[in-house]
Amino acid sequence: MSRDVQRDVLLKGGRIVDPSQGMDTVGDVLLRGGLVESCGAVVAAPDGADVIDCAGLIVSPGFIDVHVHLREPGREDVETVATGAHAAVAGGFTGLCAMPNTKPVTDNQATVGFVKRRGEDAGYARVYPYGAISVSQKGDTLAEMGEMVAAGAVAFTDDGRPVESAHMMRTALEYARAFNVPVAEHCEDMSLARGGAMNEGVVSARLGLKGIPAEAEEIYVIRDILLARRTGGHIHLCHLSTKGSVELVRWGKERGINVTAEVCSHHISLTEDAVEGYNTNAKMNPPLRTAVDVQALQQGLADGTIDLLVTDHAPHHYDEKEREFADAPNGIVGLETALGVNCTYLLHRGVLSLAQMIDAMSCKPARVFHLPGGSLARGQVGDVTIFDPSRAWTVDASRFKSKGRNTPYGGHALTGQARITLVGGRVVYRATD
Ligand SMILES: [Zn+2]
Ligand SMILES: [Zn+2]
Repeated sequence: MSRDVQRDVLLKGGRIVDPSQGMDTVGDVLLRGGLVESCGAVVAAPDGADVIDCAGLIVSPGFIDVHVHLREPGREDVETVATGAHAAVAGGFTGLCAMPNTKPVTDNQATVGFVKRRGEDAGYARVYPYGAISVSQKGDTLAEMGEMVAAGAVAFTDDGRPVESAHMMRTALEYARAFNVPVAEHCEDMSLARGGAMNEGVVSARLGLKGIPAEAEEIYVIRDILLARRTGGHIHLCHLSTKGSVELVRWGKERGINVTAEVCSHHISLTEDAVEGYNTNAKMNPPLRTAVDVQALQQGLADGTIDLLVTDHAPHHYDEKEREFADAPNGIVGLETALGVNCTYLLHRGVLSLAQMIDAMSCKPARVFHLPGGSLARGQVGDVTIFDPSRAWTVDASRFKSKGRNTPYGGHALTGQARITLVGGRVVYRATD
């Protein structure tokens, strides 16, 4: 990224959709010194400004994905902070939260600082580290949350595994409340889920695979909502996948409990049927569920029960995904397909309006995780996603910026694509085709 004096950037004539300001208008956005100088009004280009023609495109506050697995430190062969942050901007994301299940685990201020610096050095999407709740994510000893917040951690989680001890989760929520950061839970009762490879139901029975019942997730959802009620801490529920989970979150929100929730693009677009043929690129945790669950998750997004859309971007080495289904690792990459999937399955099918989709991908992630951005109001950071919701394209994993190729969408036709991504008022990605 260039370090010389930053030129003004004028985003000209796009349709600006910014739910943080209730704005949907054709106009200009002027970025100056890395910040938004003006938004909405048609302005003449200042001397020396870079003018970007946005006619026919959507100009949105930059997308933020709060659930991303980079593999650095530890598995730089699978993904680095730089390749993951590059994939993010190619998908239209200007910010991401990096999960702490690295090797070693991001459970101390030095590692939090390392991940944050690697993100700054890469100069693509902003990288916000998560800190682990427990030392080495072993669930025994609470990690030094205060030190990690001071080093730049924006939230805490043991994602990849659940916090099995209710007492530890209670304590984490109490501490996190003092720091005003969310505690994010990977909801999975291991005594029910262990050894499971897909959703428990008719398809798992037919394929002869051990299933993971919906209750493995839902038991943790209600436990953590009750602990949030007890402590007043902010529980954020990761990658919800079942109808029952949506109903439980709705129950908690109706009672004013401090609970937020996210859903992955794959869980609102695919069902367990994708596992047919033992396709390991359809293996993830939580698993793809039924059409009834997909519909409930979509409805939860539409009515605000589910706050955020995320990817749970989880790159794996090709060889690892080539194993037998039961032994293959969980997870898929998602940063470079999420916008297309969300446009195709939510926007174009009338589940969400454009403003609702942008809200769930930008404004709300910023608000829920207390991050910069999520708004193009004057004075905000100049993080902007310019996209074409009508552009048809076919997913070709070999073109991903991510090192990961493990996607269930390979060869799928999607409609909706990022065209230009700006972070801090600089173009960090521009589509070339
Ligand atoms: Zn998880
Ligand atoms: Zn995850």
